[in-house]
Amino acid sequence: TKPIHIIGGGMAGSEAAWQIATAGLPVILHEMRPNVETFAHQTQDFAELVCSNSFRSDDHEANAVGLLHWEMRAANSLIMEMGDEHALPAGSALAVDRDAFSAGVSKRILAHENITIERGEISEIPSDDWGQTIIATGPLTSQSLANSILENTDQASLAFFDAIAPIIHADSIDMSKAWMQSRYDKGDTEEERTAYLNCPMDEQQYNDFIDALLAAEKTEFKDWEKDTPYFDGCLPIEVMAERGRETLRWGPMKPVGLTNPHQPGIKAHAVVQLRRDNALGTLFNIVGFQTKMKYGEQTRVLRTIPGLEEAEFARLGGIHRNTFINSPLLLDDQMRLKSRPNIRFAGQITGVEGYVESAAMGLLAGRLAVAQAQGRDIETPRNTTAMGALITHITGGADAKTFQPMNVNFGLFPPVENIKGGRRNRKERYKAYTDRAKADWSDWLQQGA
Ligand code: FAD
Repeated sequence: TKPIHIIGGGMAGSEAAWQIATAGLPVILHEMRPNVETFAHQTQDFAELVCSNSFRSDDHEANAVGLLHWEMRAANSLIMEMGDEHALPAGSALAVDRDAFSAGVSKRILAHENITIERGEISEIPSDDWGQTIIATGPLTSQSLANSILENTDQASLAFFDAIAPIIHADSIDMSKAWMQSRYDKGDTEEERTAYLNCPMDEQQYNDFIDALLAAEKTEFKDWEKDTPYFDGCLPIEVMAERGRETLRWGPMKPVGLTNPHQPGIKAHAVVQLRRDNALGTLFNIVGFQTKMKYGEQTRVLRTIPGLEEAEFARLGGIHRNTFINSPLLLDDQMRLKSRPNIRFAGQITGVEGYVESAAMGLLAGRLAVAQAQGRDIETPRNTTAMGALITHITGGADAKTFQPMNVNFGLFPPVENIKGGRRNRKERYKAYTDRAKADWSDWLQQGA
């Protein structure tokens, strides 16, 4: 049998290689380190953790990433097995001994008879002669490969930066203050007209908000970030505020084309606009609000916005170096490049965010590649599972125009039904999400995936 090539031996590439090799198929794993280094990796081990040593919450009944751990364990994940073997005490989180963890992953990969390692940078998207290939080169994909991806897609489909605006759970927004309306009521369909939520500010509230932005503690830019200028199109809000107190009112907070049904006849001084972030309508991002404010400061300052006093954040804002493709545009639901179906993408480069999510997308890509090699047609898991919710989001649920990397969270799942007698409380809701996910994931695994 022809081997499946994997480019990148990080979180995703290692897991994909493991899944393919344990299914009995040959793999060639290409890793550029130590020949070519990144600014963040320090070793030549596989699955090196470049920053924190945390896999986040391990609570599989109340937390979406904990649920993802559970699903991966059920699918014989190497990353989870080594994470568990080298776990450190960390309460309900899973923290790992980073060196022992990566050494453990490397040892297993190197020892597997179906895996061949080739050290060296792959500088362009391989030709079709290679057969099935998984690109898992991560947020720090080498420049030449990134350029080749650009050439094979189009200029707008590869980002080198995340300029992340905070994302909020829709059900935590106070609709007695906010209202739904697109600017100038644009949009032909109901969906387009309900794509925006608006939060009004009077002059005093606006001025207080600008003061809070200016005073908030920000994360410093690192040296490597300073080298890459960010475009005017994605300036952090606090930088806009520094340029002038009115800048935001002429930019993302302009109060035009909107009428507040809660205060007829009164014109807002400024409006914070939120845009629907997923097809389900459970998540909204704050338009143009990328920020380098520290996390605690973000929640504090953003909750001063009328309507967002009780906001629950699915994701906070930030600006980081991160290479990722516009998956909703480029990939089919099997994670393949629509224009080159022998090329699959996996890991952070697909627009998921985090160690666990990246490894999870490696696991899925590996299993889909195995099925393809064996001529079996399998469907991707349902979006009621953590795996399925992530893959559905990146390959279709998210809006391609505003696509930004995403952690796993319950906002990506179809809502659970209410029970008789009203709404479940939060704990009951999470349990319902995770019970449903576990059943559906077990089904998917059983159906020969
Ligand atoms: P990686 O783990 O980065 O693996 C990609 C691999 O591909 C690397 O080994 C690289 O050497 C190799 N490679 C790249 N280009 C080529 C090429 N052309 N040819 C051959 N090999 C190549 N996530 C968290 O959950 N917690 C954190 O604290 C955290 N901190 C981060 C800090 C930084 C500075 C960065 C950049 C990211 C951070 N992340 C964090 C995100 C984290 O990197 C990813 O979640 C995860 O490592 C991505 O997995 P991956 O397999 O997609 O990429």
